[in-house]
Amino acid sequence: MTQGAIPLPPPARSALDLIGRTPMVELLGFDTGPCRLFVKLESANPGGSIKDRIARSMIEAAEADGSLKPGGTIVEATAGNTGLGLAQVGVLKGYKILLVVPDKMSREKIQHLRAMGVDVRITRSDVGKGHPEYYQDMAERLAAGIPGAIFINQFANPANPLAHETTTGPEILEQMEGDIDAMVVGVGSGGTLTGLGRFFAKASPKTKMVLADPEGSVLAPLVNTGKMIEPGSWVVEGIGEDFVPVNCDLSLVSTAYTIPDTESIAAARELLSRAGVLGGSSSGTLLAGALRYCREQTEPKRVVTLVCDTGAKYLSKVYNDSWLAEQGLTDRRLHGDLRDLIG
Ligand code: PMP
Repeated sequence: MTQGAIPLPPPARSALDLIGRTPMVELLGFDTGPCRLFVKLESANPGGSIKDRIARSMIEAAEADGSLKPGGTIVEATAGNTGLGLAQVGVLKGYKILLVVPDKMSREKIQHLRAMGVDVRITRSDVGKGHPEYYQDMAERLAAGIPGAIFINQFANPANPLAHETTTGPEILEQMEGDIDAMVVGVGSGGTLTGLGRFFAKASPKTKMVLADPEGSVLAPLVNTGKMIEPGSWVVEGIGEDFVPVNCDLSLVSTAYTIPDTESIAAARELLSRAGVLGGSSSGTLLAGALRYCREQTEPKRVVTLVCDTGAKYLSKVYNDSWLAEQGLTDRRLHGDLRDLIG
């Protein structure tokens, strides 16, 4: 079968030029109530996640303002994907990368980073802000001690939301032919929420921002009740917070859902088995939130969410039935296919 007459782009001169312009697919055969649901495959970026976009914009902003000089060191606290993005962009541009990573992150991500020449320091994921071993405080301290190093800080860096305001948002609106009713996002740093929210407020004011937040995170409860809860823990990687990052403008959110890990994992598995899309755990949370939103509608709506990263990094977790059973994450209602395995 031929692929038709869509012209292919010429070969890129660098993987940097392959960041963005990611494909979108409609999810058919899912229970979406009266709605149509689309996912944008940020997993198609060269570093495998949505974070390639912000890595490029934050590095280029630091080059432009003179804080990052040739041969300098980029330091960041990251769940992995921002680190991969920074490595992807930084190594090609000749910078050194030092990353502080909480110890709950998947081994595949850490191996990938080390193979790219990144200096990875692993720290505790069970301590909060203000503790010396908290990953962000540790990154800031390390950067201050290295000459020529900058702490790039995705949580407060304005070039993070700006990347989504100027690239992800316009791409989505173009792919949806100017007609999108709701955008479902998660929050790690808040860059996606804030950048897309700002873009749609100007370019498509009818588009509602919907937050899908892991159970245990403080963000959805804060939107829904105005109160900070005591943070819990969750298995989903890359989203959910125990504080509100500077880059996270929760006033942009019109609906917020708290999604348990079992529901996120069931949705990620459904995305693979029904649509053939291998997404990470946060993509499961976003899809679960998007499905809840779609089913609550009484009118037809056009809803978009993101596959934030590829599930290849989570094969030993989200896609491993024994691991799920060990973690007590096998919800028999949601994972009927696992019933035989766990007796
Ligand atoms: N999904 C994954 C897999 C991530 O790593 C992140 C960022 N840590 C996000 C979603 C959230 O994006 P943002 O930082 O823009 O809020």
